[in-house]
Amino acid sequence: MPVKATSGRANVDQGLMCRVLCGLLFAIVQTQVAAVEPIPDKLVVLTFDDSAKSHFTIARPMLLDYGFGATFFITEGFDFPTNKTDYMTWEEIAQLHRDGFEIGNHTRDHLGISDAKVDKLGEQLGGINQKCAAHGITQPVTFAWPGNATSLKAFGGLREHGILFARRGGAPEYPYEQGRGFAFEPNKDHPLLVPSAGDARPNWTLADFIRAVQQAKDGRIAVLQFHGVPDTAHSWVNSPQQNFESYMKYLSVNKYKVIAMRDLQKYVDPGIAPDDPNAIIKLRQQQVSK
Ligand SMILES: [Zn+2]
Repeated sequence: MPVKATSGRANVDQGLMCRVLCGLLFAIVQTQVAAVEPIPDKLVVLTFDDSAKSHFTIARPMLLDYGFGATFFITEGFDFPTNKTDYMTWEEIAQLHRDGFEIGNHTRDHLGISDAKVDKLGEQLGGINQKCAAHGITQPVTFAWPGNATSLKAFGGLREHGILFARRGGAPEYPYEQGRGFAFEPNKDHPLLVPSAGDARPNWTLADFIRAVQQAKDGRIAVLQFHGVPDTAHSWVNSPQQNFESYMKYLSVNKYKVIAMRDLQKYVDPGIAPDDPNAIIKLRQQQVSK
């Protein structure tokens, strides 16, 4: 009988252990699921490229008023080092960081990272990272591909430098000139090839802007690309101040949630990527050509 009793206790212990382990496993799974929130409709990522002076003088106070998040993709390209009429100073960039906005990496020299230039990626990212460190700015975790060049060969280098998400333009699905694009579809779009749903052009009207942001539904996120508001150095990507004001007002009145690119982590796991990053792009190109 003692043998049986021991055996019975062993069974009870095994059952208890199983329940404890199952409970633990369930808790772990729950924690992992809870780490990424469902993507709400009307989720917009606001991004600004090329370190334009008006990012500080015009966009900053407006975004602070509305309580919007945003990412400023910084480069020292063009004549940034000497022209402080058209481009921000590093002190102004540091203030944007202290305000709570995100500072992203847009390469030191605004260098298009094509397959042929991938060997330059490290020094280009490092140049901006060093300046960020010197000015008390957190090391960037997001990247904007300069000049619409992209390269799958750069993915390893971007990851090595801690880049979680990288934004491209609206091309190749749409021609560059129109500034049109598709919203970001997590798990279909590669996190290092996040498309711009809209890339603001001088001739844009509010209708163009609305077409871009209204794509933000059913699990899709509208990532918007701006340059200067206005852009006093690059006329082809200028957004007149008045237009920009009407765009931001539209987002506020219509209750859009406006975040910085790094905050995508709340909704999207940057570790999940499609096997073929070009598959979704090809599918959309077919859709556009119909
Ligand atoms: Zn740029």
